[in-house]
Amino acid sequence: MEDNKNFIEEIIDSDIAEGKIEKVHTRFPPEPNGYLHIGHCKALAIDFGIAKKYNGLCNLRMDDTNPAKEDTEYVDAIKEDIHWLGFDWDDRFFYGSDYFEKDYEYAIELINKGLAYVCELSADDMEKYRGDLSHPAISPWRDRPIEESLDLFRRMKDGEFPDGKYTLRAKIDLASGNFWMRDPVIYRIKHMHHHRHGDKWCIYPTYDFAHPIQDALEGITHSLCSLEFEIHRPLYNWVIENVSVPHTPRQIEFARLNITNTVLSKRFLRLMVESGRVDGWDDPRMPTLCGLRRRGYTGSAIVDFCSRVGVAKANSLVDIRLLEACVRDELNETAPRRVAVLNPIRVIIDNYPEDKEEIFELPNHPQHPEMGTREVKFTKNIFIDADDFALVPPPKFFRLKPEGEVRLMGAYIVKCGDIVLNDDGTVKEIHCTADLETGNGNPVDGRKIKGTIHWLSEANCYDADVVLYENLLTLEDPSKLPEDKEYTDFLNPDSKTVKRAKVEASLKTAKPGDKFQFVRMGYYCLDTKNENTFNSIVPLKDSKGK
Ligand code: ATP
Ligand code: MG
Repeated sequence: MEDNKNFIEEIIDSDIAEGKIEKVHTRFPPEPNGYLHIGHCKALAIDFGIAKKYNGLCNLRMDDTNPAKEDTEYVDAIKEDIHWLGFDWDDRFFYGSDYFEKDYEYAIELINKGLAYVCELSADDMEKYRGDLSHPAISPWRDRPIEESLDLFRRMKDGEFPDGKYTLRAKIDLASGNFWMRDPVIYRIKHMHHHRHGDKWCIYPTYDFAHPIQDALEGITHSLCSLEFEIHRPLYNWVIENVSVPHTPRQIEFARLNITNTVLSKRFLRLMVESGRVDGWDDPRMPTLCGLRRRGYTGSAIVDFCSRVGVAKANSLVDIRLLEACVRDELNETAPRRVAVLNPIRVIIDNYPEDKEEIFELPNHPQHPEMGTREVKFTKNIFIDADDFALVPPPKFFRLKPEGEVRLMGAYIVKCGDIVLNDDGTVKEIHCTADLETGNGNPVDGRKIKGTIHWLSEANCYDADVVLYENLLTLEDPSKLPEDKEYTDFLNPDSKTVKRAKVEASLKTAKPGDKFQFVRMGYYCLDTKNENTFNSIVPLKDSKGK
């Protein structure tokens, strides 16, 4: 185990040293109301990661106590995403709603102890009577006799009352400086269909009441969650202390993951999907795990990113380029090299015979000979990228230019001859002559050429769509949303550009999801939904800093 421990591990170490726990047991509790995003990945990498590090266990628990907007489609997707990241819950898969019966019993226990009561304030009045830092809350039903509360609570459960008519409130401290302790609501009436329990229940526990009970019933030792729950911790502990649960879990909070130009909120992501601004939850521009996967990001690079970000108690904003660097570092090692020409222009090698075809053998990865080689063809007509040619070259332009020479990667040095223009002044085709002494990686001594460009023989390529992506949002720090604006005011109109490109013939056998380096360009992944489409994953170099 590394010496560098984060603050959660230090707490766990001392809990073990003090004999408070034997085996570390954590849980990841997603709400199945959307797909997981990379922020969830941070949380689950901590939950599963810590369990693994301490030889403990981590449960997967669907937090489905709130009957609104849940869907089994999400449950399956969440499982798939967690497995993709390399984590597993073994046979410990649970639903928070499986404990409804227990939640109810514990609520009765609180009433019997004089620690909960049925309240008749409307939501509006409750807000009005909340008090402030110098005035306690007012709760007119606080002293309702136990028998009366028991009776009303049973009748709430039996469906006698409409939504909002009564609530069950914990009797804690109306003057507390922590407003969550001012007799919080722990049960509400909601005549709503539950995706697993149908119409069995019409009262539902609040998160603050249900979550500590779920943790305790599952024997969770450390309930790790993001910082916004810190203020709820006294209530979490109060519930654990006052109902007769079998275990005493401990809640520890860590900072949420925030990334530049990215909004990590299911609500916003759902809006993007439902308004048709993106092509589904797995649109490659989305920060969802399924979107990142489809884009070509790997689970291991995302987990690596989360560990590089680290576990801290203070919120911070992480540059999205760190995530891109993690993906780039991994794919640099693992992705076979191929050639694609995104903005093709035709080059004719004047001194090369019309019907000649040479086969050159190129390495799939220059640093990894074990990844083998592939054959490419050289012919009279080839394509190069329009960006590798300049009619009026800027200073220090070492690619192809009038009268200039350049090396075709793995093939000949060519010299620029006639340039044929279209009517609109753009380049139609370029004539070159090749120095045929220099082919196939055998440069003749003394021929030092500054520029090397990639190319594709007309006889060795086909057309494919290559999709280039930029950040969805132009707002760098999503926490700095101006008050009169919405995130949708900051959508990047250039977040997606489709190019009809020429790609190397050997890519025909690629399978959806396969990843490649297109040399001198970046990393690309064959899309899993659209045929003959490559998604750009990350460019070779970080160009956004400029
Ligand atoms: P969202 O706002 O996107 O809906 P959520 O917190 O409501 O997020 P849940 O499904 O309830 O989503 O979250 C499951 C777990 O993931 C929680 O413990 C939550 O703290 C954690 N989590 C969610 N977003 C982040 C984030 N950006 N960084 C770290 N942890 C997060
Ligand atoms: Mg939530």
